[in-house]
Parts: sequence; structure tokens; C-alpha cells
Amino acid sequence: MPNTAAYIAEAEKYSAHNYHPLPVVLDRGEGAWVWDVDGNRYLDCLSAYSAVNQGHRHPAIVAAAKEQLDRLTLTSRAFHNDQMGPFLRELCELTKYEKALPMNTGAEAVETAIKAVRRWGYRVKGIPEDKAEIIVCENNFHGRTTTIVSFSSEESYRAGFGPLTPGFPMIPYGELGALRQAITSNTAGFLVEPIQGEGGVVVPPDGYLKAAYEVCQSNRVLFMADEIQTGLGRTGRMFGSDWEAVRPDVVMIGKALSGGFYPVSAMLSDSEVMDMFAPGDHGSTFGGNPLGAAIARAALKVLVEEQLFERAAELGNWFMDELRGIDSPHVALVRGKGLLIGVVVRDESGPARPFCEELQRRGILAKETHEQVIRFAPPLVVEKETLEWALGEIAEVLTQPVAVG
Ligand SMILES: *Cc1c(COP(=O)(O)O)cnc(C)c1O
Repeated sequence: MPNTAAYIAEAEKYSAHNYHPLPVVLDRGEGAWVWDVDGNRYLDCLSAYSAVNQGHRHPAIVAAAKEQLDRLTLTSRAFHNDQMGPFLRELCELTKYEKALPMNTGAEAVETAIKAVRRWGYRVKGIPEDKAEIIVCENNFHGRTTTIVSFSSEESYRAGFGPLTPGFPMIPYGELGALRQAITSNTAGFLVEPIQGEGGVVVPPDGYLKAAYEVCQSNRVLFMADEIQTGLGRTGRMFGSDWEAVRPDVVMIGKALSGGFYPVSAMLSDSEVMDMFAPGDHGSTFGGNPLGAAIARAALKVLVEEQLFERAAELGNWFMDELRGIDSPHVALVRGKGLLIGVVVRDESGPARPFCEELQRRGILAKETHEQVIRFAPPLVVEKETLEWALGEIAEVLTQPVAVG
């Protein structure tokens, strides 16, 4: 039986080196827990970047997946299937949008939204051909396609991948004045994350989303919320935008939409924007497939029936307070909302990575983001007692006299 090192060497040998994972090889998961090939148990504090909000292998989603596997998995959109319609209706009823367009990955949902909003800019707003602009924020993360990385402020995401796609003016995140100044008669949309997850769990100033939405409204600019990480309960509400009672014109969701079983994403909007698409304009072989749709229906039902939004808010508030209470020489600040929490490590204490490695040795899997931030985002089904135990371990790691590693 191969061991951890052998599995890692194999992956290194046969694939591109486009990730820097923690040296752990997992082979089983249940709820908030995962196990490695040597039988060690870990608390998953990443939740696959918030894709497993419902916990690993939630039994209700497993059952729905198995049942659908025995019936029908893929039809393509050349034919109808009996799962997609109910999925879209349930999704729209839950999120209160008129329409949803199903895709697979988050990046595809973002691409879909960009296409819809650009076309709305031309056909409805009357922007001259090829002049439509979508304003984006510095430090954003919206995915990895060539168009999406074109408007990343992260040099390594873009370098060597040009020519880049134009039409995405960039402004500082959280600055309302910059948004006002950037808007022109060619602005079709403003694309924003309610909290910048990959950017280091960056929370904008209170009132920013609401005010930005109003600026967009009064300039006929579509407010586009990337809720792929912040949506579906992670921050303690259905959407991160709900915290400021903003109803975005366009929402992108993915990740937890399938509870981590299968790539399912969607763009949500009302008809005015969604009706920009006609047959042949956009599509995906797997988008809206019956297996993904059945899984997503079950995944949404779990979020609602187990009141995971409320749970994330309650546990998150308490957990964040406890983290802030740790008297650590290494922590600059703790920020976040619900169970999307970032612990920012002081520059003087070195990068966050060695802290993550020490947490791994103690049975907690957390991943650094942007060098200095340790993200804590466990599945929303995590037990409070489990987090109490984790806090003890985290406190010890963060109060060691010198940076570990
Ligand atoms: C993960 C993520 C994406 C991209 O999703 P993929 O499924 O990896 O393509 C886009 N936006 C945000 C905010 C994300 O966190």
C-alpha cells in the first residue's frame, strides 16, 4: 500500500505543479472530518474553499446522488430532463430571482454573467459596439479562465497568459468614491465579491455594498455579486449581500450549490438580463445535467432544513470572538463574517504557512491564503464541541514564542 510520500510523488510526477498543497493525502470524509491514508483524522477548516458547507458526504445528498446515478446522468441540453426544471424552480424560489442558468464551475458562472451583462449593455443600455466595460476590484478572485485572469491584480495569475481581454477597469475594493469616478456611459456592470475570500477574507467597510449598489442603480449599471464563496450560508446568511439588504442584479453561485459532490454553478438574475440569451448563444454539455441537478436539489434542501445559515451566523460569531480573545504575539487581526474567518499573521512573525503546517500536525487542516492569512472555514455542520477543541489547539499554535516551522 503506497504511503503519503509515494502518493504525493506520483501526483508531482504526473501533473502540472500549479498548486502547493499541504502534505496530506486524504481518502475519506464525513461531516466536518477527513482522514488521511495513514488513518489520521483532521478537522477540515477549509471545506474545499466553501464547497462542502453541508459537510462531507452528507447522507441526504449521497442518497439523492445514488438514486439519480441509477436512473440517468447526462442528456445534454439537446433534450430536456426531469431534474433540471425542478432544480431551477427550487433555486429561484429560494433565492427569489426570476431565472437561473446552470453551469458547472464557478468560473463558468462568472463567464456567463460577463456575457449576459455585456450584451445587456449593448442591447438595453445602448453602449456602442465593443465598448462595454465591467468595473472590477483590486485583489479580486473570480476564477482562472483567460478572460477572468485578464482582470486579476495578481501578477502570477496573468503573467505569460496574454493577450488579455480588455474592458475591465479596476478600482480599489471598498472605496465608494473610486466606483463613482470609474463609471462612464459605457459601464455595463460592477463585479464584486461581498467578502474577498481568496484575497485574504477581506471584509469591506460597513455600508459599502449597499452604497455601491445605489451608485450602480442611479447610473444604470448592473450590480454583479460573485457569491461563489460567500453564498449559500457561509457568512451566516443566504448571500453575503444579504447583510446589507442588497439584492444584486446578477448573482453567481457555485461551490456549495452541490455540497461538494459535483461541479454545479449558476448565474441568477431577473428576466431582463437573462433574456439576453437565445438558442445557440451560450451553453455547456454538462450544464443542467440531471445528476448535477438532483445533487444540487438535495444540497439546497439540506441548507434550508438544517438551518445552516443560522448555524453559520451563531457559531461564526462565537468562534470569531474566541479567536480574537487569543492573546497572540503573531496575530495582527481577525476578520470575517459567519464561518468565513481570516486570521492575519503579522509580517514580523513570518508567513502563515508554518502555522498551517503546525495545525496539520495537531489534526486541523487550514490553508494559508495570500501569504499572511490563515483561513478558518469549517463545514457549517461542525459541532460546537469540535470547534472548542480546535480553539485550544489554535491558541497553542498562535502563542508559541517564535514562529513555528
Ligand atoms: C472559487 C471561486 C471562483 C471560481 O470557482 P471555480 O469553481 O474554481 O471555477 C470564483 N469566484 C469566487 C469568489 C471563488 O471563491
